[in-house]
Amino acid sequence: MDADVCCKKVACPHFVHKKGNEMKKDKKAVVLLSGGLDSSTCLYKAIEDGYVPYALCFDYGQRHLKEVEWSRRIAEKAGAIFKKIKIDLRQIGGSALTDNIEVPTGREIKEIARDIPPTYVPARNTIFLSVALSFSEVIDAEAIYMGANMIDNPGYPDTTPRYIETYQKLINVALKKTVKGGKIEIKTPLIRMTKKEIVQEAVRLMVPLELTWSCYQGEEEPCGQCDACRLRAKGFREAGLTDSLCQKSDSDVHA
Ligand SMILES: [Zn+2]
Repeated sequence: MDADVCCKKVACPHFVHKKGNEMKKDKKAVVLLSGGLDSSTCLYKAIEDGYVPYALCFDYGQRHLKEVEWSRRIAEKAGAIFKKIKIDLRQIGGSALTDNIEVPTGREIKEIARDIPPTYVPARNTIFLSVALSFSEVIDAEAIYMGANMIDNPGYPDTTPRYIETYQKLINVALKKTVKGGKIEIKTPLIRMTKKEIVQEAVRLMVPLELTWSCYQGEEEPCGQCDACRLRAKGFREAGLTDSLCQKSDSDVHA
């Protein structure tokens, strides 16, 4: 890599290439990016791990396109290649994010963890991973980074270690690349972290947190009341940090 190409920022993939022989030079990773705290942290983790990052973002008919815009911004900031995929899950519906179903608001953390809420999108991660898999095979990526988390999440079934391990087994027999001895590994560095630990990891990786959007609603500012806002606020509060983007729910979130 020509030294003049590199912007010298930590997040620049060119800079990562030059950091040392231990880096996985020219190895690519697809990162499932929604523009939120978790997936943005994964993007920066993939860069730290030495991969050339390809950020894959879905316009799937969600309530707002803010997460697509914000994903593009954070991908640009990180020096990642950005790719948007359009899949209209409104044709299927069945979720508060893709149908005329209300997003729950004002729930306490304990209540959020109690049952799978209507913001669950049927088979969403299975669909996203399938597309990521297809893309990975085409660009010859070796890893797929995903911000799945089993601790501070609303009980979604497609974010658990069991789910990831099972999907990995499918990958190992599903592709021309993998049956010929190649590898595509799902990486979920945040899966056993609390939101507090994810915020701390994001700070360590120098993720520009003010550019991450977690709220399910697409208003001018984060609503502070949906499960995503409440979990995010919990993480910042427990990490002892102020969320410059969303301060509405800092004071009234109860663990
Ligand atoms: Zn919200």
